[in-house]
Amino acid sequence: SMFSLRLPPLLHSLLLLLVPAPASSLALVRPPKRVAVVGGGFAGLTAARNLASHAGVEVLLCDQRSYFEYTPGILRAWVEPDTHTRLVKPISKLLPRTAQFQRVLPGHTTRILESDEGEGCPTPDSSDAAALASCPLMLSIRKDAEAPLLEYPCDFVILATGGELGPVSDDRQTADGSIKARRQRLNEQVASVMQNSTSALIVGGGLTGVELAAECAEHFPRGAVTFAVGPTLKTRAADPSCAADTGEGILPGFADARTAVGGGAPHKVRVIPYVKRWLEDAGVRVLESWAVPPPPGA
Ligand SMILES: Cc1cc2nc3c(=O)[nH]c(=O)nc-3n(C[C@H](O)[C@H](O)[C@H](O)COP(=O)(O)OP(=O)(O)OC[C@H]3O[C@@H](n4cnc5c(N)ncnc54)[C@H](O)[C@@H]3O)c2cc1C
Repeated sequence: SMFSLRLPPLLHSLLLLLVPAPASSLALVRPPKRVAVVGGGFAGLTAARNLASHAGVEVLLCDQRSYFEYTPGILRAWVEPDTHTRLVKPISKLLPRTAQFQRVLPGHTTRILESDEGEGCPTPDSSDAAALASCPLMLSIRKDAEAPLLEYPCDFVILATGGELGPVSDDRQTADGSIKARRQRLNEQVASVMQNSTSALIVGGGLTGVELAAECAEHFPRGAVTFAVGPTLKTRAADPSCAADTGEGILPGFADARTAVGGGAPHKVRVIPYVKRWLEDAGVRVLESWAVPPPPGA
């Protein structure tokens, strides 16, 4: 192992994605003393909490938002906005006292500089501030447009800023990263979309489509929700492997999956027929092998 710390497997593989200190650095053979984590979603928060639980490791977590939001519940908030209070929590409340949190301005977050001389940060209780010059990395962050850069010397920077697929009504680039502002935007979006609608068409039978169709079934009257699933014309209709897609457009990739249903003595059923039956029982019209043509020039 690169580290003498004992880490759970997920965290260990995360650490392999770290921005490494220069090869000459002793930080590679010593446990890290100071770690910066950029991004406080599932990955970054888990990394920060785990590292901060090790004595002698100082952790700074930065995020554009001041809060953690539980994405799996966000589609529920589109039909029942009050649930949002249970989906968010200030990041500072989710960290142990030994870790620091710093909100950063979207678009102005980060610069990471490497130093060839840095041989590893001093122990956190070192009273000699000049000793921080021995840290191999320097993370620079900005709290707001006018504020000077804050510099954080460290052994490692973990980049945990998430993927391209942002959550529904993603507003990570918004300057106000508070829970209050997020909730206000969510309420406005939900009101403008849901309150002016009498029916819904959901296109795409992946996890998000299935979940959204189920949520909409609760919000709209029976028969007002249509769920259109199937191979897209462009990418899948000409693909011979589609013929073997027993998912028939609902939850492709889950053809063999089973789920436990029933109260007292749960039994396992196949997921795809179960989902289809559940939606139809809830009044959703399921259109199978139905594809939206790609827009011209796509
Ligand atoms: C509707 C929906 C439902 C889902 N349901 C499930 C489910 O049921 N089960 C499941 O396992 N997964 C589910 N997922 C997927 C899951 O949410 C993601 O896999 C997970 O959020 C990825 O975690 P992450 O920490 O890598 O990134 P994210 O959760 O995206 O976190 C990244 C963080 O980095 C911050 N950030 C980004 N850029 C910067 C920057 N430059 N500077 C500072 N901070 C930055 C962001 O503000 C954010 O807080 C769902 C996703 C969606 C959209």
